[in-house]
This record gives sequence, structure tokens and C-alpha cells, in this order.
Amino acid sequence: MEDKSYNPFANAQAQFDRVAAIIGLNEATCDLLRQPLREHHVLIPVRMDDGTTKVFKGFRVMHNDARGPAKGGIRFHPQETADTVRALAMWMTWKCAVVDIPLGGGKGGVICDPHNLSETEQERLCRGWIRQLAKEMGPCIDVPAPDVMTNGKHMLWMLDEFETIHGGKYPGFITGKPIEMGGSLGRTEATGFGTIYVLREALKDLGIKPENTSLSIQGFGNVAQYAARMFTKLGGKVVAVSCWDNGEKTSYTYRKKDGLAMDTLAGITDTFGCINKEKAVAAGCEVLPGDAWIEQDVDILMPAALENQITPANVNRISRQVKILLEGANGPTTPDADDTIKERGIFLLPDFLANAGGVTCSYFEQVQSNSNYYWEKEEVLEKLDTKMTSAYRAVRELAQRKNLYMRDAAYVIAINRVAQAVRMRGWV
Ligand code: NAD
Repeated sequence: MEDKSYNPFANAQAQFDRVAAIIGLNEATCDLLRQPLREHHVLIPVRMDDGTTKVFKGFRVMHNDARGPAKGGIRFHPQETADTVRALAMWMTWKCAVVDIPLGGGKGGVICDPHNLSETEQERLCRGWIRQLAKEMGPCIDVPAPDVMTNGKHMLWMLDEFETIHGGKYPGFITGKPIEMGGSLGRTEATGFGTIYVLREALKDLGIKPENTSLSIQGFGNVAQYAARMFTKLGGKVVAVSCWDNGEKTSYTYRKKDGLAMDTLAGITDTFGCINKEKAVAAGCEVLPGDAWIEQDVDILMPAALENQITPANVNRISRQVKILLEGANGPTTPDADDTIKERGIFLLPDFLANAGGVTCSYFEQVQSNSNYYWEKEEVLEKLDTKMTSAYRAVRELAQRKNLYMRDAAYVIAINRVAQAVRMRGWV
């Protein structure tokens, strides 16, 4: 379970402050970059199917747009908080900068549980969120995308509402659209595949053959599933995955020591990334407690569910066999647990580098939508691989040259790029 004693925004600021001190940023630049430039809190009244009206709370935070229009997902989550959205918006700024795409950072959220909303209620919620924010966002201002518990269907309802309000066609307003409605081929796979492109490079540097490695993952949603598929394609073995079971209101880890079959597992998983327990047992999986994913004897650990999952309370349960921590989720490791990862010499692939494939492909989608010309899937994935590989190479090179932890090296590159944009615009 997420540990609520950690505030993700405080974590994001603590990470920023540490790196700002390493770089020696001046006070005004620090003040400008350690908090959002703009944020909107909205109330969204939604007519429910039974005729009653329910009021939902939503957010859109634009952390920084010095390098280009803000970019970032919109999450539906019952425990969403303004501070979570702030942290995620800030990480988006660094993420876009570390992969060197000309975009800033934003994030949105609505406090709701889509499991308890019908299709039509979800549609009205999406349209309501846009109605409240349509003047604050746009293809040249701030561009949303799917995130936890939202998908292409939600994006198209949002796009349709935005276009109705603005009276024109603006496919570049939103990304993660269904393919037949202006989405980019490869977007669904991009975040998960991107994590493995980066992992592949790290394994080369560490002299480890992928076919000799095993992986345990927290989560089995979009990021985890495509990462697992690409990892299996490289020859690695996925030993365990965990997920939230909404029916039972708890999480489980599913394990098969000789490797989980990805097609089988995906076939018994719902659209929220919840694996059907009975079918998993029938397919020969062991069912373990939800937090067992962290203590598996594997070479690579991948948190790919929620933030604040690796904390001082469980970091020492990580097996001595683990060589690489591949952060698929945003902010999965708290700063104090991060110290332990560093001390133990576990090679870290930090979140905003490792999971930047999603936003990179979203950027490709924006480019395609704005020019109304669409690329083949191979072209998209090839460009994605090139971007992810060169971003990893730059971070690794700096980490080695300056003897920095990989997270710090990624931050130094990203923050320097944003600080430079802010300076060149004459803001500080
Ligand atoms: P998703 O909704 O598709 O999947 C989330 C998964 O996490 C599901 O399998 C769910 O069952 C599982 N989960 C939820 N609570 C859990 C718990 N307590 N224990 C174990 N499993 C739990 O979400 P996603 O798109 O795969 O995103 C996962 C993470 O990656 C998030 O942190 C998100 O912000 C981040 N991320 C996503 C993208 C993207 O393109 N989808 C891009 C960058 C970062």
C-alpha cells in the first residue's frame, strides 16, 4: 500500500534542492523551479445515471513551460491530492528536459474511482474537467495525456469537448488518442518499451546478458505489461508481478519461478491492470501477498504501480541478488529509501529517465497531429529507441565523469536545461 506519511511534493522538492545545491543555482532560479508556475483547482459537477449530481474535485498543475508547452497526464484516482499532482507536474518538467524534447511539465488529476462510475458518468466527468479548464490548456499551452486509470477513450471525449468549445479541429491538443482518431502508433507500448530500451543499455554497461536475468514487477498495468513483454523479447524472465485487486480490496503478487507467460497473464487481466486470481491459479501461478514483489530473488526490480512504494520500512527486504532498480512508476522510491539503494550499490534507472518513453512518444504524437501526417509504427519505435538510448548515454556519461548517483546525474542534466531556458528567456 502507498505510505501516506510521505508527501510526494516534499520529496520532489527535496530532490530538486539537493541537485540545485550541486549545480549552484542562484536563489531566483531555485524559487522559480521548486514550485509550479500555475495551478488550477476545479469543481466538476457530474449528473449521475440515477439523476443525482455528484461534485468531483479536479486539478491541473503547470510546473514550468520555459522549454515549450506543458505536457503531462491526467489521473483518475480516489486518493489523488494536489501535492501528488504538483510533484508529478514537476517530474514531467525534468522528464521532458532529460530526454531533450521541447516541452514543459504539467499534470492533472481528478479525485474519483472510475471502478464505481459507469461509462456515461466517466464521459460526463471528462467533459466537465475540460469545460473547467478549456481556456487554460491548448496545443500551444498545455497538452494532457492518459495516466493512471485514464485511457484513449477518455482522451477523445476530452478532445471532443475542447474542440466543441473552441470551434475547430485541434488533434494536437491531447495525446494518447485512439489510433484511428489521431493517436500515434506505438504510444500504448512506448512507456513500457522505453524502460527496457534504457535497461538494455544499462545491462550492456554492467556486462550482464539480458537472457541471464530475472525481473519482479509491482503493477501489471500499461507500463508493466509492455515492459514485461519487451524484457521477455530480450530473453529475460519475468518471475513475479503484483497488482491491486479491487474486488478483494487488497494487492497480490503472482509468481512463477520459471517465468510467467506474458500472453496468458495479459489474457486474464482487466483494463485496470487487475489479474484474475482464480484464472492465475489455474494457470499455475503462486499467489503471494501484495508486497512480496519486493523481496524476490531476482536481478532486476521494477516498481511500476504507484509512488512511495519503496520506503525505509521495506527497502531492506530487497534481495542481495538485485543489481538494478528500474523505476517504471513516478516517484516509487522515497528519498530515505533511496539512500539505502545508493549505499547498497544497486544500479538505479531513475523514474523520469526510465519512464520517459511515454512522453517522448506523446511528443511524437503531437508532432504528427499538428502536421496531420502520421508515421509507421517502426519509425515511431525506432525514433523512441534513439531518444531513450541517447538520454541514458548522456546521464550515464555524466554519472561516471562526475561520480554521481544516476538519479542526481539525470537531475543535473534536466535542471540545467530548464535553468538555461529560464535564463535565455530573461525570466531570472
Ligand atoms: P495502470 O493504471 O495501467 O496500472 C497500474 C497498475 O498498478 C495496475 O496493475 C494496478 O493493479 C497496480 N496497482 C495499483 N495499486 C497497487 C498496489 N497497491 N500494489 C500493487 N499493484 C498496484 O497505470 P500505468 O499507466 O501502468 O502507470 C503506472 C505508473 O507509471 C504510475 O506511477 C504512472 O504515473 C507511471 N507512468 C505511466 C506512464 C504511461 O504512459 N502509462 C508514463 C510514465 C509514467
